[in-house]
Amino acid sequence: MTLDHRFDHRLVLTTYAQTARTAHGTLTELDQLSGDGDFGDNLREGLDQVETALRERPDEAAFAVAANVFLDEVGGTSGPLIGLLFQEIARALSATDDARDGWRAGVTEGLAAIQRVGEAEPGDRTMVDALVPARDALAAGEGFAATARAALSGARATAAVRARRGRAAYVGDRALGAPDPGAMGVALLFWSLAEVAEP
Ligand code: ADP
Ligand code: MG
Ligand code: MG
Repeated sequence: MTLDHRFDHRLVLTTYAQTARTAHGTLTELDQLSGDGDFGDNLREGLDQVETALRERPDEAAFAVAANVFLDEVGGTSGPLIGLLFQEIARALSATDDARDGWRAGVTEGLAAIQRVGEAEPGDRTMVDALVPARDALAAGEGFAATARAALSGARATAAVRARRGRAAYVGDRALGAPDPGAMGVALLFWSLAEVAEP
């Protein structure tokens, strides 16, 4: 199968923004169960700001613009961590014409950066639990749709674990049975990518 390596990464981000608006209520409820309830706002408002910034800076690489917004403007623990992911995706995409290569390298480096900063391990009930299966799927040469399914099932599996990192670590069993909001939110990035790249 051939991939069109020129598909528009702006469209990936605007699709992600639309998805985050649709998922806002669910993500808010999940963070109310396991944290302070602001994850839906953080992701939706961050991606709304990305859309605005993309309109203002049409000549810059889309994920570099998104990284700037998340690193500089978005609050919560998730804002800077997702900013690091976007930054590594931007860097990797700029180094290759092959989107799948770029995503494989970018997610690998982005996950490493998130773990350097946040020190979460797989199974700690964080966005790392969506990123590890996504990275593994990309490293195995899977397409974007399979990668999105891997990320989503990794995110869903967090419902069975007690948090050891982030605010959810303090709420004990309250969040058991509901997935981690950050893991679900990051899975939606891969879902948006698959929708644009493998429609
Ligand atoms: P806050 O807890 O500061 O309100 P957010 O609500 O924006 O932050 O984001 C919460 C999400 O951040 C969690 O659901 C989890 O996925 C992620 N997270 C929290 N701590 C870490 C960490 N140390 N490493 C990776 N991700 C983390
Ligand atoms: Mg929160
Ligand atoms: Mg908060």
